[in-house]
Amino acid sequence: MKAIHYPESSDLHKLLRFAAEDGLIWLGEHRMLLLHAGALSELRKELVNSLGQEQARRILTRMGFASGVRDAELARRTRGLECLEDAFVVGPQLHMLEGWAKVEPVSLHIEPETNDFAAEFIWRHSWEAEAHVQAFGEVEHPACWMMIGYASGYTSAFMGSFIMFREVECAATGADHCRIVGRPVDQWPDADELRPYFEADSIVGRLLELREEIEIMRRSIACPRRTPDLIGNSAGFKHAYDLVARAAATTVTVLLLGETGVGKERFARTLHEMSARSTAPFVAVNCAALPDELIESELFGVERGAFTGAHASRAGKFERADGGTLFLDEVGELPLPAQAKLLRVLQEGEIERLGDERTRKVNVRLVAATNVDLQKAVNAGTFRRDLYYRLNVYPVTIPPLRERTADIPALVEAMVCRFETLHGKRLAGIGDKAMRALKTHSWPGNVRELENVLERGVILAPPNGLIEVEHLFLGSAPESIPQHRLGQAGQLEAQQSAETVDLPGAVLDAGINLEAFEQTLLERAVERANGNLAAAARLLGMTRPQLTYRLRKNRSTDDAR
Ligand SMILES: [Zn+2]
Repeated sequence: MKAIHYPESSDLHKLLRFAAEDGLIWLGEHRMLLLHAGALSELRKELVNSLGQEQARRILTRMGFASGVRDAELARRTRGLECLEDAFVVGPQLHMLEGWAKVEPVSLHIEPETNDFAAEFIWRHSWEAEAHVQAFGEVEHPACWMMIGYASGYTSAFMGSFIMFREVECAATGADHCRIVGRPVDQWPDADELRPYFEADSIVGRLLELREEIEIMRRSIACPRRTPDLIGNSAGFKHAYDLVARAAATTVTVLLLGETGVGKERFARTLHEMSARSTAPFVAVNCAALPDELIESELFGVERGAFTGAHASRAGKFERADGGTLFLDEVGELPLPAQAKLLRVLQEGEIERLGDERTRKVNVRLVAATNVDLQKAVNAGTFRRDLYYRLNVYPVTIPPLRERTADIPALVEAMVCRFETLHGKRLAGIGDKAMRALKTHSWPGNVRELENVLERGVILAPPNGLIEVEHLFLGSAPESIPQHRLGQAGQLEAQQSAETVDLPGAVLDAGINLEAFEQTLLERAVERANGNLAAAARLLGMTRPQLTYRLRKNRSTDDAR
C-alpha cells in the first residue's frame, strides 16, 4: 500500500454548474440540490423517531448508496482509467466538494484483475456525525449511515462488485474523527449482518441480481423487436387509445391519422390484438414502399400466366389476412387503379386475383393510415372521393410526441430496456440532463425518432454507465443559458466560453466502430429531412443514389444479425 495524494480538483469543479436562471444545478449530467444541512438533519431525525433506528439506518444507507453510484459514473468520465487511484479518489474528492466531510486518505489498494480492494479513510467534520449528536447526543455505535452508504455505493459501482465500507471509529461516539475501512463484502466475517442495510429493491440488489438478469436477457434475445404495448398516460394519447379500444369490439374500418412516426402500425396492431380476430393474421402493407406495377398483385394476388413472369399463382395480402386484420399504411399513396379495386373489396367483400376469372370471398377488417390530408388529395383528383368516404368512417388522430411529452419518461424506460436486451448491454439508466433534453426536444420524427435516438444512446453509452446528452444528440449545440461554475477560490464565476463538442473524440471514447457511426449519421440525416432522401443526401453532401446504396448496405447487414 502506498501513500495517496489527491490530484488537483479543478476538473471536478468544472463539473459543477449553476444555471440559476433555469433553477438548475448540475454535477456533470446529474441534477443536484443545494439543500440546508439543517433541513436534512431534521428529516434524518424524523426518520429515526418515526421508523426506529434500524429502519432509518437502512433508508439512509441506501440513499447514500444511490448517490455514490451516481458519482462513480463521473469518476471514469472525468479521469479515465489510466491511473486507477486518481480515478478512484474522484469519490472522496466529490464527497468533500458536496460538503459531507473532509476525507483524508490513509491507504488505498486496488487490484483490478482480481477485484480485490482495500482502503482506509478518515472523515473530519462529518455532517452526519454532527447531525446525529445534535439530535440524540453522543451514542455508543457509529452513526454516519448515509455517508457509509455513499462510500460503499461509490466503490461498488467503481469496482463493479459489492465493496462494503464500515466505520471503525465515529465522531458520533465521542471520537475525534470518523475512520472508515472498505473491503469486498465476502472479506467481512459479519457481512450477513450488515448486508440488510444495503439491500432492498435498489442498487445493491441489482448488482446481486445481475447474473439472473443476464440469463433472462439471453432468453428474451431470441425474440427481439417484438412490438411492445402502447405506452402513454397523457390525455391526447388516452383519447386515441380509447377510440381504438372501442373500435376493436366492432368490425368498422378504422382510419389512423397522424404525423409520420407517431406509431400508427402499433395502434393498428393493438386494435387487432384487442379484437375478436386476434388469433387470425395481422398483415401490414406500406403502400408507399411498393412500386405501382406490383401493388395490385401484392394486395390482391395473381394467377399463373396473368403476365410475363407470373410463373405460379400467389395469394395477395387480402387473402393472407383472411379472418384477421389488414393494415394499409400510407394509403394516400395508392395509385388510382388500385384504389378502384380496393373500393370494390370494401363494398363486395370479395377479391379477384390478377388474371383470374373467379372472385374469392375474404373476411378482412381494414385499418388504413395516412399522414397526408386525404381531403386535399380528393380535391386534387389523386384520391377517389367514394373511397375516401369508405375509409373515413372512424378516423382516429394520434397526437404527435411533442403534444404528449408527459409520456416520454415511460417510453424512454421501456425502449432503453428493450435496446439493452437487443444489444446485450447493461446500463445504469439515463442521466437527468439527458432526460431533460429528451423532454424539450421537438421530435419532428415522433416516437420513431425517439426510438432511433435511444437506440443510438444505448449503443454509445459506456457499459454500466449512464446515457447522457452527447450519446443522444451528437454534435448538439451547447446550451445558450448563462451558467456559473465554481472558481478557484470557491466562489461562483460566469462560465467563460461554451466548450465546443469534440465529436471525433466522443466517438473514439465510446469505442464505436466506423460502420455503426455511419449508420447513425445516415439515419439522423434522413430523420432531419423528414424522410426525404434527396434532402437527406444533400445534408450529407452526397447524391441520392449514393445515400440509398449506403442505407441499403447497412440495412442488409442489419437484417443479417
Ligand atoms: Zn462517523
